[in-house]
Amino acid sequence: MNSFFGELMRDNRMGVKGGSEMIRPKYIFCTGGVVSSVGKGLTVAAIGRILKARGLRVALQKLDPYLNVDPGTMSPYQHGEVFVTADGAETDLDLGHYERFVDENVSRLSNVTAGQVYLTVIEKERKGDYLGGTIQVVPHITNEIKRCMKLVGQRSGADVVIVEVGGTAGDIEGLPFLEALRQLRTELKRSEALYVHVTFLPHIGATDELKTKPTQHSVRELRGIGIQPDVIIARTDHPVNHDIVNKIALFCDVDEDAVIPLETADNIYAVPLLIEETGLADYILDRFKIEASSPDLGEWRQLVTRFRAAKDKLRIGIVGKYVELHDAYMSVKESIVHAAIQKDQDVEIVWIHSGELEKGKDRDKLRDLDGVVVPGGFGYRGIEGKIVAAKFARENNVPYLGLCLGMQVMCIEFARNVLGLEDASSSEFDVSTPHPIIDLMLEQRAITDLGGTMRLGEYPCVLVPNSLAAQAYGVKDVMERHRHRFEFNNVYRDLFAKNGVSFSGLSPDNVLVEISELQDHPFMLGTQFHPEFLSRPNRSHPLFSAFVGASAAFRDAKASMASAMHSGMESAE
Ligand code: GLN
Repeated sequence: MNSFFGELMRDNRMGVKGGSEMIRPKYIFCTGGVVSSVGKGLTVAAIGRILKARGLRVALQKLDPYLNVDPGTMSPYQHGEVFVTADGAETDLDLGHYERFVDENVSRLSNVTAGQVYLTVIEKERKGDYLGGTIQVVPHITNEIKRCMKLVGQRSGADVVIVEVGGTAGDIEGLPFLEALRQLRTELKRSEALYVHVTFLPHIGATDELKTKPTQHSVRELRGIGIQPDVIIARTDHPVNHDIVNKIALFCDVDEDAVIPLETADNIYAVPLLIEETGLADYILDRFKIEASSPDLGEWRQLVTRFRAAKDKLRIGIVGKYVELHDAYMSVKESIVHAAIQKDQDVEIVWIHSGELEKGKDRDKLRDLDGVVVPGGFGYRGIEGKIVAAKFARENNVPYLGLCLGMQVMCIEFARNVLGLEDASSSEFDVSTPHPIIDLMLEQRAITDLGGTMRLGEYPCVLVPNSLAAQAYGVKDVMERHRHRFEFNNVYRDLFAKNGVSFSGLSPDNVLVEISELQDHPFMLGTQFHPEFLSRPNRSHPLFSAFVGASAAFRDAKASMASAMHSGMESAE
C-alpha cells in the first residue's frame, strides 16, 4: 500500500474503501501572501467553479490557524459571519463562498482549525494513544493536519481537492499548516499537487506603478519553508501589463502562463469568468494530466449578464448591530443579491445600525426602504432598534424578512404592540419578563458550555398549505439550517394565531415554530432557521425570492400612488 493512503487505511473509524475502489484525488494548496482581505477565499471558490465547469468533482477545505475550535464563539467583529453547514458545523465564512460558487454542500470536514487539531492530538495523548512518545508539533500536529486533508479527499470522492490556508505567509501560527502542506506534497506525485499563492500588487499613485516586490518577498518566505509556488495569482485594483507578469515569473521562478493577474471585479460572480479567461484551468489540467471537457459556464455567464443588465432600483435595508462590518452578514447580503438577479432588480443594500434606531436616530432611513431584513444575532444590544424596524414594517406594509433573531423580534414586537403584552421579551434578554414570548428550548436548559451546543444544522420543516411560505417554496416539506438556543414559546401560540399570526412552518412533531407570518400584511415573515445558508447565485432561495418580489411590488405601488397624486394635483391646478 502506498504511503499516501497508508495512514487512512489503518484508521478503521473512517470506513474508507480500499484497493482499486479508491479515487486518488489531486490537491491544490492555496496560500496567501502580502496582505489579508484580498479575496483569497473567493478566488479559491472561483477556481472550484471553473474546474467544476470542466466536469470535475471538486471538494474544498479551509485550514484556519487560530486556536478556537470553531468560530462559533468568536465575535463577528473578529471573524465576520459564522457559516453553518448542513451537518451542523459552525465554520468560516469562506465555506459560504465555496457552496455558493461550486454549488455543492460542504461538510464539517471542510473547515479545520488549529484548535480542533490540537484538541484531537491532546485527547489522544490523554488516552495514552501515543504510547509514551513526546508529543510535538512535527510530526504529531502536522500528521493530524495531513489526516484531515486526506480525509476530505476520501470522503468527498472528489477529483480535485482545493485546500486554502487562512492568513498570510509569515504568520507564526500558520507554520505547522504550511509544513503539513509541504509534507503532503512530497507524498504525492508531481502531477498530483499544485501550490497556488495569492498575493497583492500595491499601486504607487505618484508614479502610477504596480509593485511586485512584496510578492517576491512573500514567495521567498514560502521558499524558506520548502514551498515553491507553481501558480501566482496577483490581485490588484489596476490593469497589469506584460512586463509585470514577466517580472513576477522571472523573480518568483514560475511559468509565465502561471502568473495570473486578477483585477478587482465589478461583482464577485464575475471572478470565475475572469479566471477562466486567464487560462488557469487549462494550466491546472495540463499539470494534473487530466483530460476534461471544454468549460460549461453558460449558466454562470447568464447570471452575470443578468446582474449587470438589471435597471430597476430596489432599496433593501439590513438592520443589525454589526452593520459597519458587512462580512458579519455575508450570506444574508448575497442571498438578497441572488434574489435580485432572479427578479432582474438592481438592488442597493442600505445598512442600518440597530443601535442608532434605538437612540431614535436613522428613522428616516427606514422610510426610504422597499423592504427590511432583520438578520440573526445574539444578546440584548440593539434589540430595541430591531423592534422599531419590525414595528415600522408592520404598520407601513413594508415587506419584512426576519431571520432567526429577526423572527423572534417580529413576534416580540407583535406581542407588545398588537396583543398589548407590554413587557413581552425573550428570556435571552430578560430572564424575569412576565411574557417570555421567546424562551429557551427544552433541550438547551441543562447546557452550560457555549461552543457547538446550539440547535445546529439541517432540520425538517413542514409547511402549512396556502401560507405565504408554502406558496413561496411550492412544496410541503423542506430542510433548513439552524443555529439557535431559543424558540417561540408555545404557551402563546393560540393567542397569536387568534390575532392574525400564522405559524406556517413547524417541526414535523409540531413542537417547534419554524416560520411565522402576519396574515394582514403583504409580506411579513420570519424564520427560526437561516435560509441565507442555502441560497445560490443560480438558485435563489424561495423565501428571499418571494421577499424581493414583494419589495419590488411595494416599490411599484408607492411609485404609482405618487404619480397618481401628482397628476391629481396637476388636474386640480
Ligand atoms: N439569539 C437567538 C437564539 O439563540 C437567535 C439566534 C440567531 O439569530 N442565530 O435563539
